[in-house]
Amino acid sequence: MDKFLSKKAREIQPYIAGIQPKGDGWIKLNTNENPYPPKLKLNDNLSEILDNLRLYPDSDANALRDKIADDLNAKNGTNLTRENVFVGNGSDEVLAIIFQTFFSGKTLCVPDVSYSFYPVWAQMYDVTPKVIATKNWGINWGDYSGNCIIANPNAPTSLAIDIERIPQGGVVVIDEAYIDFAEAESAVRLIGDNDNLLVVRTFSKSYSLAGLRVGYAIGDSALIEGLNRIKNSFNSYPVDALAQKIAMLAEPNVDEVIATREWLKTKIDCLDSQANFVWWNVENAEEMYEYLLKNKILVRYWKQFPNNLRVTIGTQNDMEEFVKCIEKLTRPK
Ligand code: PMP
Repeated sequence: MDKFLSKKAREIQPYIAGIQPKGDGWIKLNTNENPYPPKLKLNDNLSEILDNLRLYPDSDANALRDKIADDLNAKNGTNLTRENVFVGNGSDEVLAIIFQTFFSGKTLCVPDVSYSFYPVWAQMYDVTPKVIATKNWGINWGDYSGNCIIANPNAPTSLAIDIERIPQGGVVVIDEAYIDFAEAESAVRLIGDNDNLLVVRTFSKSYSLAGLRVGYAIGDSALIEGLNRIKNSFNSYPVDALAQKIAMLAEPNVDEVIATREWLKTKIDCLDSQANFVWWNVENAEEMYEYLLKNKILVRYWKQFPNNLRVTIGTQNDMEEFVKCIEKLTRPK
């Protein structure tokens, strides 16, 4: 089989996504999905869109980009237009295009503990990572310079930092997949003063739309133009017509998740999460993972973190079941 593969396909170490279990009865706390259905006000436009599926979608997703810019302006007091917004098939695709557009063949500062897709794109697009150590799981923003990428809040640590200053001399990417669950402020307000800043967001978590696959980047129009060059050399229509429409109709959905997270923090030993998951300190992560799995509770375990598990915030009921299950282990018989 190998003989047909390109060198890249042979050598790449692909990202491993969390399991999507088959069958009923699972409490699924492993992929940071929102446990509540999307808040969508569907109107009768939908049948019009279905009729129009025979046509290709708007390759520039202009209406969606206008809506994203307007919503961000209302929230952050910014002056963004569609020229500052780039949309893609989930923020994973947006991030992959960012790596190709700005980092290919260059050096990139990245935290030692971070989203595990970053090293895969680095390998994919011949980027040399400059790994910056976290301290007590936290990012020391002062250590970053030139091209950089961080997630804020970070994954899988769940911790957020306040960003006031953007390093100069390279492109700085702040991945805000989880920012709507955080108290920390978005870096979107810094875009006007920093033409080297890209903020990346997604509809997957706070809008309960992981299945729709819509993510976006916000930044100076020259950076967005660069992203369009690569996108239009790869796939002109990454966001389908239904996805463009549905993303425009959805609203954020974070309050219950945040309330349950704050409750869970009082029940287990975890970091001070500002995301829709917690980074749980456990004595033996592998054993705990297996025990929970037997009880049909799925969390995320990585071999390189033997004393931590990442637990997505489910419904209040899910998390009460989760706490009951782990208390069974510790309660005297
Ligand atoms: N960034 C971070 C930090 C994430 O955890 C995820 C979800 N795995 C993503 C980006 C990608 O999300 P999506 O492609 O669903 O927008």
